[in-house]
Amino acid sequence: MQLKRREILKGSLLGAGMTVGLTDVFAKGSSHSGESEFPTETFDVVVVGAGMAGMCAALEAAEKGANVVLLEKRGRPDGVTVYSSGWIAAVGSDMQKHHPEDTKEAFVADMMRLSRYKSDPELIKRYAEEAGEGVNWLIQKGVPFKLWENLPSPELSRCVISQGNGITGGSMLIRCLLKALNEKKVPIRYNTNAIELIVTANNEVEGVSCHTPEGRKNYLAKGGVILTTGGYGANTAMTGAWIGPWANNLVMRASPWSVGENITMGMQVRAKLVYLDQFYAGPITPTGHANPSPLMHAGYGIQVNTAGKRFLPEDWLQVPKAKGIANLTPDNRSFMLIGSDADDNDQILTKTLKRFANLGYKVPNGKTIADVAKAAGVPAKALEETVKEFNAAVKAGKAKELDPPYEFATPHALEKGPFYMIPAAGGMANTMGGPKINVNANVVTWEDEPVPGLYAAGAAAGGVWVHDDIGGNQLGGCMVFGRVAARHATARAKAHG
Ligand SMILES: Cc1cc2nc3c(=O)[nH]c(=O)nc-3n(C[C@H](O)[C@H](O)[C@H](O)COP(=O)(O)OP(=O)(O)OC[C@H]3O[C@@H](n4cnc5c(N)ncnc54)[C@H](O)[C@@H]3O)c2cc1C
Repeated sequence: MQLKRREILKGSLLGAGMTVGLTDVFAKGSSHSGESEFPTETFDVVVVGAGMAGMCAALEAAEKGANVVLLEKRGRPDGVTVYSSGWIAAVGSDMQKHHPEDTKEAFVADMMRLSRYKSDPELIKRYAEEAGEGVNWLIQKGVPFKLWENLPSPELSRCVISQGNGITGGSMLIRCLLKALNEKKVPIRYNTNAIELIVTANNEVEGVSCHTPEGRKNYLAKGGVILTTGGYGANTAMTGAWIGPWANNLVMRASPWSVGENITMGMQVRAKLVYLDQFYAGPITPTGHANPSPLMHAGYGIQVNTAGKRFLPEDWLQVPKAKGIANLTPDNRSFMLIGSDADDNDQILTKTLKRFANLGYKVPNGKTIADVAKAAGVPAKALEETVKEFNAAVKAGKAKELDPPYEFATPHALEKGPFYMIPAAGGMANTMGGPKINVNANVVTWEDEPVPGLYAAGAAAGGVWVHDDIGGNQLGGCMVFGRVAARHATARAKAHG
């Protein structure tokens, strides 16, 4: 279980360019166990990355009786979760008992359809089976959830939303999980950057080698290493290579520290890398980092470009919408034009404006369409014509015949001012691809063989999300597969004695 320094360095990917890294790792193999000159600590389970997935994994492992450590490369949890809205998609939780009309089968069917049947159906089934119980588990940890009822399909009443009360919903999740981890006395080692897996000659993962403030250190795991390092959305070499150079024009919505250690470490064990071109995107203000969701999905208003014209179907979900703004406008800029009647839906407009104001963002507004156009710097005449055409189609029951079609089930004419134009650019949130996992969250090789001792969850894992998802599926996936990985790694540690 020990490691020689020259062997670690021989297999090292870091410092090498990605292309070099690929050939390097496949040509030379990875670090093997042997004697180590680095200080070493041994645990049952080693979790790498303190985001939603890592915290759920570490807590579940501790609750199942494992001696677990959580490693975090930054001085605090600093991944995408902190920026997130805190929606979790689930079916069958205690909060959803009064919605028996939804079923696990319907949830799986919607997820598969949204992924264009590319997601691994076994992973989606596992998600649907475990998410409801996972939400109940988080409620026990004190997460203040609210069920968002009756959103347009496919979200329906599937999203429980962590109430941030002044911080993001995602930060509230982190805060509650940190408290629970503290209570369970789970050690969290900050400023501990996992740089390389420790692997036997038989491709079994025995631990991870890290840069720490005290120097290089090895963390060995009897049951397994769980990679929860997030994705690679901030690594422009990776996004440019796998998604395309255009992706680097998207506004970065989240953590600058998502630089793809899930990929570089996964490569050491020949992990099957899937859907590296896929990413989660969402509309965001071009500056100021204010998130116009969920107003954009509430079924009110129209989306226009800077010329005052509609250019995509408003019912598109977050991911295609953000990609659409980046691809279908010359400048990755658009506005959601909303009338005051949107407040009929749970005060959604007022709440959004308040949230924006808290972030120091003033939304252009005006009593008339011409006024709001002027405030937003959009040609007034063009916007008035767009609204006139839209309202006429709504009143004639022909909104679906517009070009592009307006597909919300109950369209609302834009008549009640004041009107607001909420800026929306396409934003990169985080990547969806990575080392493929099986239903036990075990990373598999190109031959679909599980890699003993290596698990992945959250944005670090591949196979769950492709193309698009039901809002809240990603944090939900972190929760489900983080816990699944923890249970399996814990059982493996116990089996090893
Ligand atoms: C604005 C925004 C809103 C969103 N809202 C939602 C939502 O409401 N619902 C939803 O389902 N999804 C949402 N998402 C997506 C969701 O937030 C992410 O999919 C999810 O947070 C990923 O969590 P994670 O635990 O996998 O990774 P992260 O939260 O990114 O955590 C990874 C952690 O690992 C650490 N780390 C990385 N590499 C190493 C290493 N080598 N060694 C040690 N530590 C390391 C990082 O510093 C970080 O702390 C949103 C995303 C954005 C950008």
